Amino acid sequence: MAVLRILQYPDSRLKLTATPVADFGPDFQKIVDDMLETHYAQDNCAALAASQLDLINPPHVTVIDFSSNKNNPLCLVNAKIVEQRGETFEEEACMSVGDEERVGAKVKRAEWIKVESFDRLGKPQNFEADGFLAKCIQHELDHLHGILFIDHLSALKRDRLVKKLRKYNP
Ligand code: ZN
Repeated sequence: MAVLRILQYPDSRLKLTATPVADFGPDFQKIVDDMLETHYAQDNCAALAASQLDLINPPHVTVIDFSSNKNNPLCLVNAKIVEQRGETFEEEACMSVGDEERVGAKVKRAEWIKVESFDRLGKPQNFEADGFLAKCIQHELDHLHGILFIDHLSALKRDRLVKKLRKYNP
């Protein structure tokens, strides 16, 4: 296994769309293992999408784990939101957008979602989610479509946040 590099805004690869997974064989399993190792090597990481990582042709997969013992991973492959309800407006940050403590912003998300996906072995995995998990899944699926949480902000708010980033990471 290996810890992969997490791409940082404004890396243009963060705008790429992930490739749907058709082959759940050893190459794909290695990527999932590397993603988990990368996830667990970070402080304050709730989830990672393959398209945030230094991978060629990132597959459509995200690993999520915000358990305190880091031992309860949820792996979503080819996931899509098929139904959603309600609205929340809560603070988000991203491993690819500066340090989590420094730049965050409130983003509108659905409060409840219904997800269709596969697990890492290709078994269908359909479920409903709300709260932090629902927010997390929406954030990660955005990544897999080349969208960052700051893309949801008004130009004014985004500029202000990016300026903050430059101040900390000149
Ligand atoms: Zn993110």
